[in-house]
Amino acid sequence: MDSSESSSGRRRSTFSTHVLDGRPCVCGASVKVYTSWTKDNPGRRFLRCHVTKGERCRYFEWVDPPMCDRSRIIIPGLLSRVNHAQAENTRLEHETMTMNTEMQRLVNSITKLENENMALRRKLKFAMICAMVLFICFLFGKF
Ligand SMILES: [Zn+2]
Repeated sequence: MDSSESSSGRRRSTFSTHVLDGRPCVCGASVKVYTSWTKDNPGRRFLRCHVTKGERCRYFEWVDPPMCDRSRIIIPGLLSRVNHAQAENTRLEHETMTMNTEMQRLVNSITKLENENMALRRKLKFAMICAMVLFICFLFGKF
């Protein structure tokens, strides 16, 4: 979308930054689109020359119109909430990975214990048969 009309008829700057990114600067280098996150211009895009080494070009131009007072108040709060939600999401993903690792360790332990249990049951069954044979032999006086 290149631009759109708001309901009040004012043009809203929502065009893609792809059009501007890489455009030639007055110095011959290319410009890059950045987003400001300062208190006065939260989320407002601007162009700056890509040259940063040596003699730095001072080219600077806002892409978006100035922020209204309400946006200056609301956007930092929303950004803070998004950052908080992302941090919580990252924490929960880490916790999920830790729990999955622990669950896999427990599944492996259960499998090992089940195998040990089956081996012990086989030994017990053999011992019971031996005991019954000895008891029968004893009963009929063979010993
Ligand atoms: Zn420049």
